[in-house]
Amino acid sequence: MIGRNKGIYKTPAELRLMVEPGRVTAASLAAVRAAIRPGITTLELNDIAEQAIRSRGGVSNFQMVPGYAHTVCTSVNDDIVHGIPSGRTLEPGDIVSIDSGADVGGWNGDSAITIVLDDPARPDVVAARRLLSDVTEQSLWHGIARLATARHLNEVGEAIEEFVEEHPSVAQGATYGILTDYIGHGIGRSMHEAPPVFNYRVRQRGPEVKPGLVVAIEPMITAGTTDTYVREDEWTVASADGSMSSHWEHSVAVHEDGIWVLTAEDGGASGLAPLGITPVPIP
Ligand code: MG
Ligand code: MG
Repeated sequence: MIGRNKGIYKTPAELRLMVEPGRVTAASLAAVRAAIRPGITTLELNDIAEQAIRSRGGVSNFQMVPGYAHTVCTSVNDDIVHGIPSGRTLEPGDIVSIDSGADVGGWNGDSAITIVLDDPARPDVVAARRLLSDVTEQSLWHGIARLATARHLNEVGEAIEEFVEEHPSVAQGATYGILTDYIGHGIGRSMHEAPPVFNYRVRQRGPEVKPGLVVAIEPMITAGTTDTYVREDEWTVASADGSMSSHWEHSVAVHEDGIWVLTAEDGGASGLAPLGITPVPIP
């Protein structure tokens, strides 16, 4: 275990190099958030993210994944992750996850958000989908908050699962499930590095949480089964029972003075304040 995780810790200088790719990744998702509406296609959202990354001197790191040609993944409704942007037109009430990443100077950022489009004709549907997205996002913030005090990385997944279990919607009969087929990861010179970051309880403690650790934490949650299948396009991961899904992700660095939420526009201040954690301002 120790051997496998050797070399995962970045130097302070390397952590600094991860600030800009985090910022550019955040900007790409902010641009998508500003543009998303019923009637827009997922390919148009892709191009908006591409422009945001390019104009800031970055390159899409998703395009460096063998076989993948797009800048973002757009996963609509029962698609959970790895949806391919296309001519699909978004409709009122759609729950849309957008996953983006930028490489700047050979270092990477990786982040995902979920947005539920308004649908005045179906307020109950929209409310249920927003709750799913909110629980997923809040589970991410609980995982990030735990990282700030954790001794070992497995505590992050513990915090995420605890939050999902304790959420009131469970008592109302919803069966939110945390995907186990897909997990988070270390990030640095490559978008996907060791160590694995589980979004649920695991027996192994994982590596020590200490300065230099940088991880992408990314809970993927459905309002039903955690069973998944890959669609005919050989990329898109969908829920087996057609249930709606949400995906939120941030890249987070641990350094001497605390944590930096590299892909949050405010460094994580607003997401962590309710949890009593103050992230260190990113230089
Ligand atoms: Mg991602
Ligand atoms: Mg990721």
